Amino acid sequence: MNRVRNFCAGPCTLPVEVLTEVQNELLDYEGSGMSLIEMSHRSPEYDAVHGAALDRLRVTLEVPDDFEVLFLQGGALLQFAMVPMNLVAPGSSAGHVRSGAWGKAAYADAERACSAYLAWDGTDGRFSRMPEPDEIEVRPGTRYVHLTSNETIEGIQLRSLPDLGVPLVVDISSDFLTRSVDWQRIDLVYGGVQKNLGPAGLAVVVIRRTALEECVAGLPSYLGYAGHSAARSLLNTPPMFSIYVVGKMLRWIQDRGGLAGMAERAIRRSGLVYDVIDSSDGFYTGPAQAPARSRTNVVFRLSSPELDGRFLAGAHEAGLMNLKGHRSVGGFRASIYNAMPDEGVEELTEYMRDFARSAG
Ligand code: PMP
Repeated sequence: MNRVRNFCAGPCTLPVEVLTEVQNELLDYEGSGMSLIEMSHRSPEYDAVHGAALDRLRVTLEVPDDFEVLFLQGGALLQFAMVPMNLVAPGSSAGHVRSGAWGKAAYADAERACSAYLAWDGTDGRFSRMPEPDEIEVRPGTRYVHLTSNETIEGIQLRSLPDLGVPLVVDISSDFLTRSVDWQRIDLVYGGVQKNLGPAGLAVVVIRRTALEECVAGLPSYLGYAGHSAARSLLNTPPMFSIYVVGKMLRWIQDRGGLAGMAERAIRRSGLVYDVIDSSDGFYTGPAQAPARSRTNVVFRLSSPELDGRFLAGAHEAGLMNLKGHRSVGGFRASIYNAMPDEGVEELTEYMRDFARSAG
């Protein structure tokens, strides 16, 4: 077996320990004679897995009792529409912070689903920083302000959630379970799990119970949060495989210090790559302004783009995969999510130093 270091922005690398457990259980789940993914989603075996994953997510993400955890499908993308459909009643509006490509996409969908306005726009600054709280405009009648806590493509991250005097809705897709959430300001957070937590197919929504009670009524059944909550996220057939692996991944995270452990890893490991960038005498540059640097997606460029091909080919040869930046921004991106082993980051920084020395 020759496992590479996979720096993909999502889906992501998963721990060998978790994958091996899945492999061992795949043909015969706990003596049932079938795999978990062949069972009825109403079976007692699956129900136990489902309930444990919901509970474990609540504990690991430190979700307070007055919030509800929902397991949904459709990725974070469907939440761009479901959030405004559920939370914004006629007469109120959603303020959106356009901090990067994903914030931009969330705003575009919100405009289609409700009355929405731009509370801050980082487009002119080419999305190199996050706004200061006093730069965010909150208009009368605002139901919530939507933020993207980490812009996966540009590699910028909010350091803390602003106090804007209205509830916040936060897309936490790409720094999910790598930092704690300041719940007091929040009505809802959401994210796909395929970066820090498991295989694609599952989106998690955590919603304040009072917000849940006030959701717009009469939406088609899949689109209303209330129905999912009443059915314990078993309104229809859930993405069982993803939920099953997420349950295992949550245990893996708990065994490694939980949220605090993951936060420490994210700071330390992204710091190792930023150190190489900062000490390279301009050989590597990072477009993100220093205070907004992402701790999960490190975006960087070579000062001589004609070396890009050589950098990538050498990385590939060294088993360092998926370092190419998003096509909209170019350059390189190292996505360092929870399951990336420390050794993977050490091999990357060593390769970057060696490459700068030999090509610089
Ligand atoms: N928001 C952010 C911050 C993302 O990084 C992504 C995916 N890269 C999305 C939303 C869309 O997620 P999904 O593919 O789960 O719909």
